[in-house]
Amino acid sequence: MASDSDPIVAIATPIGRGGIGIVRMSGADLSALVGALLGMAVAGRLRPRHATRARFLDASGEPIDEGIALLFAAPHSYTGETVLELQGHGGPLVMQLLLARCVEAGRDSGLRVAEPGEFTRRAFLNDRLDLAQAEAVADLIDASTAAAARSASRSLTGVFSQAVHGLINALIELRTLVEATLDFPEEEIDFLEASSARARLAAIRAQLDSLLHKAQQGAVLREGLNVVLVGAPNVGKSSLLNALAGEEVAIVTAVPGTTRDRIRQAIDVSGIPLNVIDTAGLRDTDDEVERIGIERTLAEIETADVVLHLVDATQPASDAGVLARVRARIGQDVPLLTVVNKIDLRGDRARVEGDRIFLSALNGAGIDGLRAELRRVAGWESESTGETVFLARERHLHALIRARDHLALAAERADIEHGYGNAQLELFAEELRLAGNFLGEITGAITADDLLGRIFSRFCIGK
Ligand code: GDP
Repeated sequence: MASDSDPIVAIATPIGRGGIGIVRMSGADLSALVGALLGMAVAGRLRPRHATRARFLDASGEPIDEGIALLFAAPHSYTGETVLELQGHGGPLVMQLLLARCVEAGRDSGLRVAEPGEFTRRAFLNDRLDLAQAEAVADLIDASTAAAARSASRSLTGVFSQAVHGLINALIELRTLVEATLDFPEEEIDFLEASSARARLAAIRAQLDSLLHKAQQGAVLREGLNVVLVGAPNVGKSSLLNALAGEEVAIVTAVPGTTRDRIRQAIDVSGIPLNVIDTAGLRDTDDEVERIGIERTLAEIETADVVLHLVDATQPASDAGVLARVRARIGQDVPLLTVVNKIDLRGDRARVEGDRIFLSALNGAGIDGLRAELRRVAGWESESTGETVFLARERHLHALIRARDHLALAAERADIEHGYGNAQLELFAEELRLAGNFLGEITGAITADDLLGRIFSRFCIGK
């Protein structure tokens, strides 16, 4: 890993033609570089956060481009270091020339091209963002639906981190009480009674459960819901996908690859990205290439969150073989919904009966019912898409679940009615500490110093 103290530079805008292209630098001291790139006269006029018109000069003093120079003085910048932005014309060649010139001009100060995510990494290391916020930056950029973007943006402003911090602080407070009891055993207070520790713990657990639920919904927003579509030819699979995608977004994007690789399509169902895994190619074959494709489809099926079995209301289902193969590969708790399509041909009405959904992909009747079922499977029972949800990552879910498990163990300790002495309290405190550590992993925050500081500031130890 390259050093975190080198000055770094990168083209900040996408490669391609555009109105404006930005080359950005970050480092402890960029003054020599600024002088070389802009000339001493202009460099002397630069004021932090003020746009200054400038020529971006090559080694012989000739302009490579002309545009705006923007200086952010440390620590008031994205990275917390001094940042210089050169906003020029967005042509791929001019940007490359400018980047090369920056590297050349900054050679003596150790300037190098930034690694992916390195500006944000510095923002984290310099406490401009916590870990969850830093991740939200990437999630916002990668968001595939409007709801995902909204919820990433909320995480970026720190709403998710604040919720996590709120829990960490509540845990620290509770531990403070326990540790105080341990430190002053002569006071012999009935700690669990006197401090309403059980009630506090119960409140923390309820908050954590609620946070975990929102995070799980958010994880679906980020990763998408993996839907396996099973159906004989002509039952209306393509029609159903189009009807689900609606007019809102004309998606149905194929994942890059050859035609035979087109097993996964992404569509947006009221804000939730669905990854539809098509099983159309699942048939017995002697063709080696096709067999590889089939194996790949079966492997995809193992990631399914839900299976949709599409049948034609006017025809008996003729895909028992494929359905059996899918069933053999999916997880135990994966729901299987039967979608009865083409009800218009029978003059039937749209409805949901248990796990059977009757609809018409052609005229759209019943599509909303299917959407609602998919939302339910994704854990999105209410209509408030993305309003309170956090765009969580696997890492966050893992940490929240581990924290929840430790709080459950703490509750077990606290439930022992009699005879909890110091040993029992110590174990109780230890579970709280472990839960807090897992939460701290989310924001990259918690340290032992943090806890000690809180204890010292709230208790008069010298007494
Ligand atoms: P796929 O092979 O499973 O992808 O099926 P398609 O979506 O291509 O549909 C096969 C045929 O059934 C097309 O002619 C569709 O217009 C028709 N179709 C699909 N859904 C419906 C429906 O709900 N009602 C009626 N009447 N026709 C439908």
